[in-house]
Amino acid sequence: MIIKKTPEEIEAMKEAGRVSAKVLREVGARIKPGVTTLDLDKYAEMLIRLEGGIPTFKGYGGFPGSLCASINDQIVHGIPSDKVILQEGDICSIDVGATVNGWVGDNAWTFPVGKISPEKQELLKVTEESMWAAIDAARPGNHLGDVGHACQSVAEAHGFGVVREYVGHGVGHVMHEDPNVPNYGHAHRGIKLEEGMVIAIEPMINAGTYKTRQGNDGWLVLTRDGKPSAHFEKTIAITADGPLPLTVEPDHRRPVSD
Ligand code: MG
Repeated sequence: MIIKKTPEEIEAMKEAGRVSAKVLREVGARIKPGVTTLDLDKYAEMLIRLEGGIPTFKGYGGFPGSLCASINDQIVHGIPSDKVILQEGDICSIDVGATVNGWVGDNAWTFPVGKISPEKQELLKVTEESMWAAIDAARPGNHLGDVGHACQSVAEAHGFGVVREYVGHGVGHVMHEDPNVPNYGHAHRGIKLEEGMVIAIEPMINAGTYKTRQGNDGWLVLTRDGKPSAHFEKTIAITADGPLPLTVEPDHRRPVSD
């Protein structure tokens, strides 16, 4: 069941979105060779609590971290670890959520670690573009398939693979609400989008095949072919005026691009 939000509820969700975006930006600013993903996790939890929030991921389905940190061929759900030391040339996806005043914000970004290869640069650029294309399609009167189709068109035009098994989702008092929001699909298909829906749009785009494999810790998801993968995510509200990104900071319209 899709739980639509009133304008007042969407207004209240902006604070969870602001905190989530701030944490993502500040974690991103700490990413450099030699840092461990557990360092990033501790910093994120500290900052979320300092901002009056609760780390949404911590304990979710038993997940041990406050963020997911997924490196190179890891697609999503990397558990933060002091054994994972970021290296020059890596790409590192950070997915982090904060619950503030009972509302959830959920967002992700993939950061370069030092200087990265042209292939990885293109993957990051195209995955971000695919996210914005999907967000732009999230308007009242469009269909859910339009969102996925917009994302898929951008990614596949560059020869990249769109992950099928993991998708975006509705967001509200809990992190995962209906509907599922695939990053692939057919235009004009699926449910009709309506004002008041709040969804996380989160393309997971692979440099090679879209196929995945499971890691052995019960969480980690990797590319089947070992090629790199990128992940970008924003929580947005569908309003009469169009898509409204909630995981933003007022002073940083595109918080982690700069
Ligand atoms: Mg999400």
